[in-house]
Amino acid sequence: MSTLPLRDPTLLETRALINGEWVGSAGTYVVSNPATGQVIAQVAAMDIDHAKGAIDAAHAAQPNWAAMTGKERAAILRRLHDLMVANADDLAMILTAEMGKPLAEAKGEVLYGAAYVEWFAEEAKRIYGDVIPGHARNSRIMVLKQPVGVVGAITPWNFPNAMLARKLAPALAAGCTMVARPSEQTPLSALAIGVLACRAGVPAGVLNILPNRRASEFGQLLCSHPKVAKITFTGSTRVGAILMEQGARTIKKFSLELGGNAPFLVFDDADPEAAAEGALLAKFRNNGQTCVCANRFYVQSGIHDAFVAALARHMSNLKVGDGLREGVTTGPLINQAAVEKVETHVSDALAKGARLTIGGARHPLGGTFYEPTLMTGVTQDMQVARDETFGPLAAVIRFDTEQEAIAMANDTEFGLAGYFYASDLSRVWRVAEALEVGIVGVNTGLVSTEVAPFGGVKQSGMGREGSRYGIDDYLEIKNVVIGLAAR
Ligand code: ADP
Repeated sequence: MSTLPLRDPTLLETRALINGEWVGSAGTYVVSNPATGQVIAQVAAMDIDHAKGAIDAAHAAQPNWAAMTGKERAAILRRLHDLMVANADDLAMILTAEMGKPLAEAKGEVLYGAAYVEWFAEEAKRIYGDVIPGHARNSRIMVLKQPVGVVGAITPWNFPNAMLARKLAPALAAGCTMVARPSEQTPLSALAIGVLACRAGVPAGVLNILPNRRASEFGQLLCSHPKVAKITFTGSTRVGAILMEQGARTIKKFSLELGGNAPFLVFDDADPEAAAEGALLAKFRNNGQTCVCANRFYVQSGIHDAFVAALARHMSNLKVGDGLREGVTTGPLINQAAVEKVETHVSDALAKGARLTIGGARHPLGGTFYEPTLMTGVTQDMQVARDETFGPLAAVIRFDTEQEAIAMANDTEFGLAGYFYASDLSRVWRVAEALEVGIVGVNTGLVSTEVAPFGGVKQSGMGREGSRYGIDDYLEIKNVVIGLAAR
């Protein structure tokens, strides 16, 4: 077992948070560092009875939590934000150790997650209803916004801190309570948030976090339990669809952030240097393991060679290694299956005529490290164009006309993020409107911020996280029609 050099070792919690108590279990499982294979912790493996207890606790706690004023809930969330920021170095260390991304990126994620908590702490006070003029002389109509109730949250491993923060912040701000199930691979970041939530004064039962390796059983329970009103999930489209089916019988509400297959278009009127810098960010953040990562680069013929040369130059500066090491920009992939997926995409593309510019093999460091890879001559029929690689492979497809590029960009069942570089104003409007996605980056490779709505169209999901729209996912609208006495 490796010991992490934390300033506050109590943040490395390995038990479940249920009804304000830290609860252990008979069975445990190992969480290890994907860069080194070293064991970081033995984590409690909670079972279904624990989950049922957590749902009961969340259900019992919800009315009192909702009865607090927005300002009272805001004060608690604000304290949670401040604690996340104050402990950002430790939270980042835990995150890098369990997930692999470089320490600086992990700290960025922690501050990004904290920013959602701050944002929704502020929004807790602004859950406005409406007064509608009556439909008859002696009536008035009020619209109340009320919390949906208990929320089941299922989060993935690629942003172990921020994906939970992005869900618990609006849920708690709205007056909902939560039962969260973090990815079995990365439960420690979620549990550390739980430690800080308790310190911030989140009441017992309001936030419950259960590590376990029983993904499908927990999902089934959360989706079918009558006391759970809503499911918020970030993960694959495949699992999102399973959850919707399981929630159908009890008419669960859903917020789903699912898979992407982001196109990144570079037009002849773009600046190739700026486009390559944006491409590097959009492709290689988190080593390609984000659902908004660029997956397909469509580059117009006139700028193709300049863009490819600039991107190759930027990529050659990436430093692959253990994320806890100074200067490393690119960590390992999460597991062997992830490496195999990149290998499959590379070999499929090569077999169908694509060419390697750089990379194309496992990294000499071994383990789950893979070389940053750039391919040209990619076409729509290759696997990389159809399916999210979720790894460090930049695949370049050449095009001639704007129409052709948009048709190829939209030729997918996914619709999360899309990016393009162009300078002509009319083109900027045309392409931004034409891309079938929920998030567009124009002349930028970074689109995630708590102040803007994050979410997808088509099979990339439903609902939005962040911005003033984000709280709507956790609120019901109640129509109150008032009859007035005749005068
Ligand atoms: P990813 O490719 O990001 O791992 P998944 O959709 O497989 O995407 O996983 C996202 C989260 O959903 C993880 O916490 C995982 O453990 C969980 N999960 C996987 N399968 C199921 C399932 N059948 N029901 C509920 N949760 C699941």
